[in-house]
Amino acid sequence: MENEKTKCLIIGSGPAGYTAAIYAGRANLSPILYEGLQPGGQLTITTEVENFPGYPQGVSGTDLMEDLRMQAMRFGCDIRTGIATAADLSKRPYRITIDDGRIIETETLIIATGATAKYLGLEDEQKYAGMGVSACATCDGFFYRNKTVAVVGGGDTACEEALYLAGLAKEVYLIVRKDYLRASKIMQQRVMGNEKITILFKHNAVGLYGENGVEGVHLLENAGGEERRYDLPIDGFFLAIGHKPNSEIFAPYVETDATGYIVTEPNTPKTCVPGVFAAGDVADPIYRQAITAAASGCKAAIEAERFLSEAGLLH
Ligand code: NDP
Repeated sequence: MENEKTKCLIIGSGPAGYTAAIYAGRANLSPILYEGLQPGGQLTITTEVENFPGYPQGVSGTDLMEDLRMQAMRFGCDIRTGIATAADLSKRPYRITIDDGRIIETETLIIATGATAKYLGLEDEQKYAGMGVSACATCDGFFYRNKTVAVVGGGDTACEEALYLAGLAKEVYLIVRKDYLRASKIMQQRVMGNEKITILFKHNAVGLYGENGVEGVHLLENAGGEERRYDLPIDGFFLAIGHKPNSEIFAPYVETDATGYIVTEPNTPKTCVPGVFAAGDVADPIYRQAITAAASGCKAAIEAERFLSEAGLLH
């Protein structure tokens, strides 16, 4: 297969990728966008998005992403299904290998690959994968109607997942390793005010048990320096302990921090490789919001256009 050439390649289809596509499309860069592992990104597995400006009544994550996708298509973005499996950013044009074997040669690259849910690292998470362990309540919550579930984590995601599950399940336990929730005040209030949710502070999940799927979790409680181990019967175990940036294939070329977030020049999406930009959660350990991702996608496309213009590659 002959290599395909483009001026602007965008990898990832969350708010960052689609917004970059809208701007790059309107700037006549004829961008190609690969949707990646999770078309539409993380918002497609959330429920209601209440904090994206312009939606006073809230909007479902899937609808929001579909709107952004259509807007990107309207301006001529070539949106494709596929995952980038390798990258060579040693010289321009940069070469990106797609999982169908195709190689795209691009003058500018916008990395908007987002971040993926983290797991605790317990062997049992693998053992019971698809049999009671999940990192997405909105995807799998349906299976736990009138059952008992546990959610691990104390951030906004954990609270959101617990609240969503409380609408379906009989009982929800929130397993929090510290003695406080990190989530925003409004989410804390909602969780604490929900009679179906019990918060287990200072608890860690250390294993799972069950014959044909999860039947319970082994817990370790650390109260006042004293450790107590006990088992809690549950039917579903949900992880909501944060995310890992999807930067592996680019990490040999661009600077990343200790967690793997791509480091960009302050206030810009510029990586240390000229013409390569990073937008959205893959480069944002701090805000990680749809609106900030969208904004950085916009900046990345503007920078790509400037880069191409300065390099005399626009026409
Ligand atoms: P966070 O990093 O905010 O929270 C992760 C939670 O998981 C923390 O409570 C953390 O505990 C806990 N945790 C991490 N590792 C472990 C572990 N190994 N064992 C047990 N617990 C662990 O991630 P979120 O995904 O919740 O949120 C990410 C960002 O997205 C935040 O900025 C959040 O505000 C935002 N967000 C906003 C939403 C909204 O506004 N609607 C919805 C969802 C997310 P500890 O506190 O002890 O570190």
